[in-house]
Amino acid sequence: MSVHKLTLMSATIAVDHEGLVGYPEALRERYRAAGIWAGRSLDEELRAARYGSAPLPALVTAAGRWSYGQLDTLCERFARGLLARTALRPGDAVMFSMGNTAETVVAYYGALRAGLVPVCTLPQHGAREIGVLAGHTGARGHFVQADFRGQDLLAMAAAVTETEGTARELVVFRGTAPPGAHEYLDLLEAGDTAPSPPAAPDLDAPVVYQLSGGTTGLPKIAPRLHEEYAYNARQWAARLGWSPRTTVLYPLPIMHNAGIALALQPAHLSGARVVLTGKADVDSILDAIEAERPNVLPLVPPAVAIRLLEHPRTPTVDLSCIEEFIVGGQKLPLEVADRLENELGLPLRQMFGMAEGMFFLTPSDAAPEVRQRTVGEPISEDDEVRVYGIGTETEVPDGVEGELCARGPYTIRGYYRAGEHNREAFTADGFYRTGDLAARRRIEGGVYYSIEGRIKDVINRGVEKIHAEEVEDLIVRHPAVADAAVVAMPDRELGERACAYLVLAEGAEPLDVAALAEHLRSCGLAKYKLPERVELLEAFPLTNVGKVAKKTLRADIAAKLDT
Ligand code: AMP
Repeated sequence: MSVHKLTLMSATIAVDHEGLVGYPEALRERYRAAGIWAGRSLDEELRAARYGSAPLPALVTAAGRWSYGQLDTLCERFARGLLARTALRPGDAVMFSMGNTAETVVAYYGALRAGLVPVCTLPQHGAREIGVLAGHTGARGHFVQADFRGQDLLAMAAAVTETEGTARELVVFRGTAPPGAHEYLDLLEAGDTAPSPPAAPDLDAPVVYQLSGGTTGLPKIAPRLHEEYAYNARQWAARLGWSPRTTVLYPLPIMHNAGIALALQPAHLSGARVVLTGKADVDSILDAIEAERPNVLPLVPPAVAIRLLEHPRTPTVDLSCIEEFIVGGQKLPLEVADRLENELGLPLRQMFGMAEGMFFLTPSDAAPEVRQRTVGEPISEDDEVRVYGIGTETEVPDGVEGELCARGPYTIRGYYRAGEHNREAFTADGFYRTGDLAARRRIEGGVYYSIEGRIKDVINRGVEKIHAEEVEDLIVRHPAVADAAVVAMPDRELGERACAYLVLAEGAEPLDVAALAEHLRSCGLAKYKLPERVELLEAFPLTNVGKVAKKTLRADIAAKLDT
């Protein structure tokens, strides 16, 4: 890959011709010299770590269990089959529309083995999201699960192809492929005799494209690189002390950054076992706890924790196997933190994580105030954290809210092909502006961080992110709508849901939630992004610089829900 130097104010940043902002060269060398980065590809690192003599199965799903050796063989056969039978070549991006199945794990690791770059889209994403993100990454392949919860994902994939007029290599899992597409099982079979994938990928090229949950404006792509993504997972596992005696239960969508960087990769880099449930409902979680006796339950969003607390079956299940109950993804209400520890007797740990990198975790021996009120400390000693005054590069004093900014050995240096946006999303010296409001707190001699709110225009619906601008842009395409503002409304179960404030076009009939949903679905928008309440206004309140005063709208809907 050809790289040239771009001097951006005081910082020197490596930029390739495709808009990938990399880590400065001196830093890459330092990370490698210090052994933080391993100097090999993510696939090589996973293979070296996980296919040793781990005594436990690597993967458990409702369909069965797979040892490390079996998983490795499947990944290798799939990778070979992909390169032998499809037009996909190393470096090509592939879209994912797959749920929590063993095939998804093989597809992900197999893609890495073949040198393909997974784009971590979810099966919940509609034709619009898949189309836009495939266009942005230039994806040449699409992996689709045919039997995902009664949804016709193959029809969705066909709709993307039709809209774009581009033929993408389609690989169908757990179903029949339409003409011209490939079936997973056929590729596995072809892989028996096909040659091995070429080794030695470009370590400075993206290995995985993650979807940002954290930007203002339209969703962006976080390009994760081989060594830093492996380090992220390795460091998470090290902080938690994972080993071959660890069993991690993961009930949320595995193709999210959280699934990959908090569960799958750290577990498989430690010789541990991953148990996937197909759904995140309480019964599935309790069934898996009874059957597999996991000792770690990572990234339980507060919504799931509340459901667990309130489910009549919970007190009847022996939860004593769980040594680490890790809640994150959303702000944890203090009352819930307290009840989790006192009613369920679960050893609570809070975490904060993002597709862009930066993870925080509360230490296991932290004081109750740290465990319950903060997300802890950075997982790496090389992470650098700043809490800057909004719009400044000046740190605020301890205990004062400001924007959380981060830089370090696994936090991206720029979104993929987003030159303009990167100038706002990163400081001149490479700190990522998270868009989250945080405070630095000194408690019993330690330094910890608490998450206090958000500046970015994103709605966090049970950890799935809704970018307000994306939905607003589609709403105003409806002929009855003159203007739209989508804001978060508080929700006890999911933390937040989307509420659409609308100004109707002159003489138009009012639009309700169902009609709005129909319009947005016809645009191909994912279901979880649909506004769940509509409020009509004559005109929007404005800030003194003439922008829609979303703070006023959020307060308005919160007050309405409160009465
Ligand atoms: P994603 O990139 O989808 O993983 O989302 C990252 C975003 O989720 C962060 O920027 C925060 O807005 C939010 N988030 C993650 N963990 C927490 C947490 N523990 N408390 C509050 N917000 C969180």
